[in-house]
Amino acid sequence: MIIGDYKIHSFISEYFKLDGGIVFGIIPKTLWSRTVKSDADNRVQLCNRILFLDNGKRKIIIDTGTGDKLSKKLKEIYVIDNSDCNLFLGLDNLNVKPEEITDVILTHLHFDHSGGSTYYNDNRELTVSFPNAVYYVQEKQYEWAILPNERERASFFPNDFEPLDKSGQLRLIKGNYQFDDYIELIPLSGHTRDMMVVKITDGKTTLLHTADLVPMEMHLSLPTISAIDALPLMSLCEKKILLSSAVTENWVLFLCHDPQTECIKVNFDRDIFFTKEKLQID
Ligand SMILES: [Zn+2]
Repeated sequence: MIIGDYKIHSFISEYFKLDGGIVFGIIPKTLWSRTVKSDADNRVQLCNRILFLDNGKRKIIIDTGTGDKLSKKLKEIYVIDNSDCNLFLGLDNLNVKPEEITDVILTHLHFDHSGGSTYYNDNRELTVSFPNAVYYVQEKQYEWAILPNERERASFFPNDFEPLDKSGQLRLIKGNYQFDDYIELIPLSGHTRDMMVVKITDGKTTLLHTADLVPMEMHLSLPTISAIDALPLMSLCEKKILLSSAVTENWVLFLCHDPQTECIKVNFDRDIFFTKEKLQID
């Protein structure tokens, strides 16, 4: 996909599983299980998709997946599957070296979105993954993550983001942020305080990285809101507003956690948003 002067690619950094009750919130299993299969422990298959943008001057990634720092126990709990993909391999397949990345936009700091921002090197030293990049995070999200509430604490691991502050690579931004002529960072607070969705547009084509606002195609349904969301009714309002724009302006929605569906265009009829077209970035 090309938008403005950006060439855009995407790849999967890992697969993982999460309890279906968490993923689909108040939707009963009798309904969601018609579309999505679960394993014997009620877990459903998810993935982490990374978006990569290159305009010849800037090489940008949006989110970094779980990375490889999780303990053996957590890797088992989340069934992390890196057997044929990871963040660095995905970039390597695009002929991009970590040193070439100029900007990392972190939609939020939950470990499945920010874990790949750092890694343990061969000497077991915690190291920033992209040494020449500026990492963009909303200031309120950073404050939220370093002093997490008890309900959200299990989703934040300081080793994912505190090294970015120490190395001087962290850029804390406040509110709506026009990154350049084509990229706009929009904070929303239903899922977690000041998570960002990323709107990439040249006036003809618009791609929205929906982060955890619409993590899978099933979340197009308005009541389908993850049980993780801090403020589900705010998520509902945010979904209505952004999905309405996506319908009227024919946006492409990028779904970062859906292993089956990478991108969709949406339509609306009788109070229901639905997929009108499935697309691929590449
Ligand atoms: Zn999240």
